Amino acid sequence: MKLFHNAKFYSMRKEGEFFSAVLVNNDKIVETFNKTPELQNVEYIDLQNCFVYPGFIDTHTHSFEGGLYSLGADLEHVSSLNDVFEILSETKPISGKIFAFHFDENKIKEKRFPTNKELDKIFPDLPVILRRVDGHSCVVNSIAVKKIKWEKPLPKFFSGHLNKRWNGIASTWFHQNLSDEAILDIYLKAAEKAIKTGHTTIHTMIGDAHSDLMHYRLIKKNLHRFPVEFILYPQITDIKQALEIGSPRIGGCIVADGSFGSHTAALLQPYKDEPENYGVLYKTDKFWEDFIKEAHLNNLQIAIHCIGDAAISQILKFYEEVQRENPKDLRHEIIHNELCSDKMLDRMQKINISSVMQPMFDRLWAGKNGLYEKVLGKERTLRTNRLASIYQRGILITGGSDWYITDLNALKGINAATKMHNKNERLSSYQAVKLYTSNAAKLSFDENRLGIIEKGYQADFVCLENDIFQIEEINKIKINKVVKKGI
Ligand SMILES: [Zn+2]
Ligand SMILES: [Zn+2]
Repeated sequence: MKLFHNAKFYSMRKEGEFFSAVLVNNDKIVETFNKTPELQNVEYIDLQNCFVYPGFIDTHTHSFEGGLYSLGADLEHVSSLNDVFEILSETKPISGKIFAFHFDENKIKEKRFPTNKELDKIFPDLPVILRRVDGHSCVVNSIAVKKIKWEKPLPKFFSGHLNKRWNGIASTWFHQNLSDEAILDIYLKAAEKAIKTGHTTIHTMIGDAHSDLMHYRLIKKNLHRFPVEFILYPQITDIKQALEIGSPRIGGCIVADGSFGSHTAALLQPYKDEPENYGVLYKTDKFWEDFIKEAHLNNLQIAIHCIGDAAISQILKFYEEVQRENPKDLRHEIIHNELCSDKMLDRMQKINISSVMQPMFDRLWAGKNGLYEKVLGKERTLRTNRLASIYQRGILITGGSDWYITDLNALKGINAATKMHNKNERLSSYQAVKLYTSNAAKLSFDENRLGIIEKGYQADFVCLENDIFQIEEINKIKINKVVKKGI
């Protein structure tokens, strides 16, 4: 047995509760103490005055892409196309392909995507994919175009840039045909990064709704090999298949709509900067109605990507229908839930919908002259990322990074949640930590096992240099140690 001591252990069961020492047997907490006890035959582990929280849980990541892209070219900090080309020319292929991500044309001086011809100059023989920061569009080079099997001819005046369905086909092709070993390596990379940033569990989306299960079976079989616990989401819409693989849930970022940056998030009122454009609902009411009804009937927890208010209201309508006819505790998820009204939140509360939020979206896109104001206008920007409004209604609200879209870093998410641009939507630091601990555990029905430091719970901790509840710059706190299952 081990006694972790000399630290302040916040239980996260109720506000203000903490312990001074925690006794762990194998992977479980067996006792908590308000004073360090003197015990026989116990290994004492001195945590040197740090602050301990339940291990962070990120409830929304794309770990495969995150892991893959951390092996590829990161274009987050480029300021010109020349920078892009320079980084690309030094990038090593993974299974014979070049991956680049985090590209944002608005952040470089040319304000445009590179073309396929420009990419061909650097890589005439290797397929290249350069993905936009939101993942909703990409650029590919000529050899990639040749190799990918397209369903119909490419758009006229094609210069390498692809969005909507084209983007899905291209990224799926790039993600396929990797060896099992390469895939496991990529997930291992993701798991290592998760632990390093204080997480002990992360929810990860697998595959995409347009293709097959991709690595679901492989990862499920190898779960024990990773230092972090993965909660898996098969991103499919085939219910039979989800049941066959024994998944308790279905979906993830299976998309009801697109993104604000690509003007494809579905809106009830048009885009401010494109007055004719209402965005895109990717699927019909009939499709979602059938899917949600059948999944609910089969006791699958459903998760769907909804960004704009039109997408949220499309999905909410069918969630309401199934919960009204046949109420169950399945905690169906709306992922992102980015733009919504008070009324919609009231409706979510009534039928126990879970809201999987990304507080970092506010850091990236809210604020004066930010993306939200540009595409939605001031008034609607006030209705984005409504953390406090959701929390106050008692809706299950959890935090996630949507990694690779934002960094896999719960401290950044917690920090962002306490500093939302709209003051009315700010959470207290205690509430914000709940999004990544006790609330997050509930999303996967693990509230009796994870997310709290208490007798009987799994010994998953993150040990920090400073106290989240006392410090302003939460994102800068140093992580001293992460304990997963007592180790
Ligand atoms: Zn999404
Ligand atoms: Zn996502």
